[in-house]
Amino acid sequence: MTARVDPQRLARELDTLATFSDEPAPAVTRIVFTDTDLRARAYLKSLCRDAALSVREDGVGNLYARWTGTDPHAPAVATGSHIDAIPHAGRFDGTVGVLGGLEAIRALREAGFRARRSIDLMLFTSEEPTRFGIGCLGSRLLSGSLDESAGERLTGGDGRSLNDARADAGFGDSLALVPLASDAYCAFVELHIEQGPLLERAGVDIGVVTAIAAPSSQRIIVEGEGGHAGAVLMRDRHDAFLAAAEIALGVESAARASGSDDTVGTVGVCEVFPGAVNSVPSRTTLAVDIRDVDLARRDAVLERVSAACRETASRRGVNVRAETINADPPTRCEPAIIEAIEQACDARGFTHQRMISRAYHDSLFMSRVAPTGMIFIPCRGGLSHRPDEYASPEAITRGASVLADVLARLST
Ligand SMILES: [Zn+2]
Repeated sequence: MTARVDPQRLARELDTLATFSDEPAPAVTRIVFTDTDLRARAYLKSLCRDAALSVREDGVGNLYARWTGTDPHAPAVATGSHIDAIPHAGRFDGTVGVLGGLEAIRALREAGFRARRSIDLMLFTSEEPTRFGIGCLGSRLLSGSLDESAGERLTGGDGRSLNDARADAGFGDSLALVPLASDAYCAFVELHIEQGPLLERAGVDIGVVTAIAAPSSQRIIVEGEGGHAGAVLMRDRHDAFLAAAEIALGVESAARASGSDDTVGTVGVCEVFPGAVNSVPSRTTLAVDIRDVDLARRDAVLERVSAACRETASRRGVNVRAETINADPPTRCEPAIIEAIEQACDARGFTHQRMISRAYHDSLFMSRVAPTGMIFIPCRGGLSHRPDEYASPEAITRGASVLADVLARLST
């Protein structure tokens, strides 16, 4: 049996999905539970129904589209990704794994394959943290990594809680019903663009992910003393922004000091209060993101950052406090799935290399409830989260073909 992915059909569907956007093409903005998101979901559900998959949605909007196997009680195999997009993003992040997963299932069916285990296509709600401030919302909930109290606790910028927002969007079931049984799936495989430059640079077709980095994010709040920019003498100042600037440089040196390219630290947000040209900043808030595939090494960076906070606070006479937004452990991909991906590549004559995922994905959380693997395809210039994000039809087709073969193998 050779599953033949239909490149035109897949490209057409990616084109159509990209039209569900709050910004004109080529930019894509699709925030969870907006009308645009709901119309995109309706489109995906219509494709799933056309493919004769049975669709179920949980209380947070995670979608499961099932191709029932000949042994429907055996733990199933799953694939999938997300379709939400941060503001001013591109059209391939996540969507390639959802529509590519659907195409892989259709290709298997059209090749006459009969799966013993059921195969599910999954759509995870809000992989991006845009609305509720936390990434992988759907997969955190279904893996039990976040409990139902998140429904009231998490609020969007519009002041609506997650519970309000999901009810508005028509997802009324209790969040307590979202977690999956530990034996629901025997394997999960996610197809995704690399979002980095390594595959393209190496001219390699497929990246076989061996580990997913452990993300952590913190909010660091520095409180100093404000005052008139003309009147407060330099020697009397406790400038919150300058202290925060030192801490930001401390994040950089803490990450560099790890000695590994796999350690990264970023200060992506700096809010200065009151934010006037003639006012000494009295408060500054930083958002800090630190990642590594090695948990001990990541936590050592976090410790160096807190030491920098303490040192700056005492030297500059400011108050510094850090709030942890999330600190997730890394995950190792399942060796049997890694091998299945490599064998599928070899059988089709695709070049491949092992690599880690520096970005995190729903796979990080799926790995807590099922053995997990990830298939990466190259994207142009390694660019992602911007309108010129691009993966070629050939690359997408190769990824979906490998996925089909891996799903066949795992569901037999
Ligand atoms: Zn993604």
